[in-house]
Amino acid sequence: MQENLKTIILGSGPAGLTAALYAARANLQPVVLAGMTPGGQLMQTTEVENFPGFVEGILGPELMTNMIKQAERFGAKILQETAVSVDFSKKPFSVKTEKAEYLAETVIVAMGAEANWLNLTNEQRLRGHGVSACATCDGFFFKGKEVVVIGGGDSAMEEAIFLSKFANKVTVMHRREEFRASKIMLERAKHHPKISFVTNIEVLDVLGAEKVEGLSLKNAVTGEASEFKTDGLFLAIGHTPTTKIVAGQIELDKKGYIVVRDNTHTNIEGVFVAGDINDPRYRQAITAAGMGSMAALDVEKYLAAQE
Ligand code: NAP
Repeated sequence: MQENLKTIILGSGPAGLTAALYAARANLQPVVLAGMTPGGQLMQTTEVENFPGFVEGILGPELMTNMIKQAERFGAKILQETAVSVDFSKKPFSVKTEKAEYLAETVIVAMGAEANWLNLTNEQRLRGHGVSACATCDGFFFKGKEVVVIGGGDSAMEEAIFLSKFANKVTVMHRREEFRASKIMLERAKHHPKISFVTNIEVLDVLGAEKVEGLSLKNAVTGEASEFKTDGLFLAIGHTPTTKIVAGQIELDKKGYIVVRDNTHTNIEGVFVAGDINDPRYRQAITAAGMGSMAALDVEKYLAAQE
């Protein structure tokens, strides 16, 4: 058991690592429970073009590795452990991982969000055999093949463009006519010679015994059923906040996001929040990082007031 921590940070995306940087610089000796893949969602992206300060863009994994090193430089301890349960009912707060228990005066919850799935009958069975929610992880396996991307947001456009580097043909399928994606991303995908679009379409199931061979579809307007041959199915249909271990202890909104009061405070005094786990709206690396810095500053202020 590790006791007497001033602060423990759950999560190692831009929110958690920026909180760690600020907390370390404030001499709070933060411990970060980074999970098995430190760096969060950006470890699974390619080029990040909208994080200020990088004129030519930066690779997601490189950005996150830099954030880890920067926080460590000031004394943050980044542990490759996953929080499996928390007890926020008494102080000091307890956080357990599969290896140890940590007791801390404050907690910053920054565990981000996870990819959504369509919950089709054969989806999970064929996961890793053509079904994926991460183009940057699995795109390489589709060299010379044909793939489908589901979704109409920026992620779908980004994944389609990325997959076009490997696949011969990428089809974006979206359930409506209008797209949620930003104009620039949509235009980029629409003008790409390898990418085509199908709208008003619903996926009923994934076809294939050992690996993905096609999709069973339904036209959302006419109701007409059809099949579509493809080697891969990539989902880009949004995310769900990673609140499983804190649910029941922290106040959540009806979509499962942590409710904040007064910037980064939760309903539990001493427990703070930062990043996508609180943010269904902006979900940007820069907004998560900004909120991470705010949470660390709020922790510092809170601890000073306790003394
Ligand atoms: P999103 O904007 O929420 O889009 C999700 C898409 O999936 C929507 O088009 C939605 O359709 C569709 N969808 C959701 N559930 C579905 C279902 N059950 N069946 C079929 N389709 C479904 O999520 P996102 O694209 O992951 O983007 C999240 C945030 O990150 C956004 O703010 C985005 O701007 C940002 N982002 C930015 C970049 C970038 O700038 N480089 C890259 C990626 C993401 P409907 O439209 O019909 O709801």
